[in-house]
Amino acid sequence: MGKYDFITAELAELKAQGLYNTIRTIGSSVGAWTVVDGKKVLNMCSNNYLGFANEPRMREAAKEGIDRYGVGPAAVRSIAGTMTLHLEFERKLAQFKGVEAAISLQSGFCSNLAAIPTLVGAGHALFTDELNHASIIDGCRLTKAERVIYPHRDVDALRNALAEKKDVPRKLIVTDGVFSMDGDLAPLPGIVEVAEEFAAMVMVDDAHGEGVVGSHGRGIVDHFKLHGRVDLEMGTLSKAFGVVGGYLAGKGEIIEYIRQRARPFLFSSAVTPADVAACMAAVRILEESDAPVRKLWDNARYFKAKMVELGFDIGSSETPITPVMLGEATTAWQFSKELFAEEVFAQAIVFPTVPRGKARIRVMVSAAHTRDDLDLSLAKFATVGRKLGVI
Ligand SMILES: *Cc1c(COP(=O)(O)O)cnc(C)c1O
Repeated sequence: MGKYDFITAELAELKAQGLYNTIRTIGSSVGAWTVVDGKKVLNMCSNNYLGFANEPRMREAAKEGIDRYGVGPAAVRSIAGTMTLHLEFERKLAQFKGVEAAISLQSGFCSNLAAIPTLVGAGHALFTDELNHASIIDGCRLTKAERVIYPHRDVDALRNALAEKKDVPRKLIVTDGVFSMDGDLAPLPGIVEVAEEFAAMVMVDDAHGEGVVGSHGRGIVDHFKLHGRVDLEMGTLSKAFGVVGGYLAGKGEIIEYIRQRARPFLFSSAVTPADVAACMAAVRILEESDAPVRKLWDNARYFKAKMVELGFDIGSSETPITPVMLGEATTAWQFSKELFAEEVFAQAIVFPTVPRGKARIRVMVSAAHTRDDLDLSLAKFATVGRKLGVI
């Protein structure tokens, strides 16, 4: 018996089940067309909603950030000081989101890990949608709070669960705003209502909402006009914002508490000046104009309508996320491979990211796509769909 036999066996098992993740290699900036595994292909799966991953004003801002502040923060902010740049960005972001305060963290993933165990612990209760993102699940695992997993988007079940725990002194409801794999929206108005009834806190993960829904892409809280009624928004700067990093935004007192208590803030360095400067530029661009957001939605509506016409099952997304449902993992991987041969890059998404038997290709339409790009990609989906008997 070798020490690593369990790894060898598990990797072989993943391959046998069609669940082995083949990660492709990107050789250029990420745009509508991207160099992948050495060839230029039409990119239909990056989270580059607004085309900001290579936005010229953001590139310039990043360079200026480096010129002024260098390449790294060289510090955990609470131990060796925080740059004015990060503080300016937090103010700017809070203003954009329409909240009292915001705090910048290393990633969206980290932001969930920072918020959840800070807000609840032993003797408290957590209410989490069954389809919440992995980073929320892990955030929940970091607390001793009792965890109640409620059925997807089921406000009545949530209400019952809250009623059962009404005497628990601290209660936190956590939900994705836009569910990342299916593109459906959390019933946030209903959630907020039951939360108010039972004096529970509400935290929403806006990773796929910001830059996408709400006025000028201000996110899910703005979309539902729930300003002041959601306690905490968590966001990422790695999707629509096109950079990397995460944040928490909401009531000033909560953000202050997180600054004092959240472990990813207290024990891990900040994102780099280039990242922050680029994100600052992204917020400025969105404040000035909602044109990128409108283009994204025009493209998404067009693409989704044509996919339905072709006969694909694209689930029940309410956002530009377009899950092309394919069933078995092997079909999804085969579909993705055939598309790539046709110069379209769209990766398969399989278990454990989605449930078994619900493998798919998640198409991410972008504002960077032209109508010609979308038509080309539709033609290739049709070709491969017919070849594999999916349509
Ligand atoms: C991508 C994603 C995250 C993680 O964001 P990163 O900044 O990439 O770490 C968190 N929550 C949801 C719903 C996401 O889709």
